[in-house]
Amino acid sequence: MGKIIDGKLISRDTREKIAERRAALYEKTGKVPGLAVVIVGDDPASKVYVRNKKKGCEEVGFYSEVHEMPADTTMEELTEKILSIVSRDEINGILVQLPLPSHLDERRVIDIIPPEKDVDAFHPVNTGKIMIGNYCFLPCTPAGVMKMLEYEGIDVTGKECVVVGRSNIVGKPMAMLLLQANGTVTVCHSRTRNLPEVTRRADILVSAVGRPKFITADMVKEGAVVIDVGMNRDESGKLCGDVDFDNVIEKASAITPVPGGVGVMTITMLLENTLRAAEAQWKCGK
Ligand code: NDP
Repeated sequence: MGKIIDGKLISRDTREKIAERRAALYEKTGKVPGLAVVIVGDDPASKVYVRNKKKGCEEVGFYSEVHEMPADTTMEELTEKILSIVSRDEINGILVQLPLPSHLDERRVIDIIPPEKDVDAFHPVNTGKIMIGNYCFLPCTPAGVMKMLEYEGIDVTGKECVVVGRSNIVGKPMAMLLLQANGTVTVCHSRTRNLPEVTRRADILVSAVGRPKFITADMVKEGAVVIDVGMNRDESGKLCGDVDFDNVIEKASAITPVPGGVGVMTITMLLENTLRAAEAQWKCGK
């Protein structure tokens, strides 16, 4: 039976370190890092994520503010709002909670955010920096996965890594980070042929698909490390990942649960990015 990788524990340790760095920064500058979150509309899941981001900021002693805008906000109004927020020195990082209502163009919204305040790391400049391995911020979810692997002492070097999913926010950057950590990386998607054959090669298998029980035990190699990024609802409405946890844990050497796995780490890495942004903007980085 595999070890359960405890995202809550890793997150707590990481947040303690962030709080220490925040205190050191305050000592030098008399200021605390500030995060602004913009949310458009009433999507209940988005509201929960935003609340958790605000709570995370409070926990590590950051300043934070949430800007709620109605669902019929226009592109012009949203642009104006973002520009007025990012012009303020006390705001080191900003993010616009996705998804946006369909009349708003997410790509254009991301482009408005100055790369040095783009703590989600979705701006094309930050995406490009990840490609060349010279970055200030990493997208929070893949960064959280790398932190978990490091914490558990799982060396990626030379390992067969299979990432299922190729979205811009999870799958693609995840593959890049595993590659930079010297893994041999395969990226799978909905057009991949013989998926189980490919996933069975993985020493480290990351699933970011968005379907409950998608990764079954027969798709997993004995002793593999299995990272479940998925956040789905099962038939009874309970939060679950992509992995058939109860059966896959019997084969895996280590596995992340849902909840209590990658999800909590994602917000922790947002806090780390906000801290890095403040350190860079106040030229106090380590
Ligand atoms: P997307 O829907 O953007 O991407 C899903 C990916 O899965 C696509 O690349 C798609 O392939 C692939 N896929 C779909 N069906 C199959 C299939 N049958 N076989 C192989 N691949 C398939 O989702 P996201 O990347 O945004 O999110 C993925 C999951 O992770 C979701 O459950 C989401 O809620 C969760 N998530 C969790 C976070 C966390 O903090 N833990 C943060 C962000 C997301 P194709 O490109 O060909 O369509």
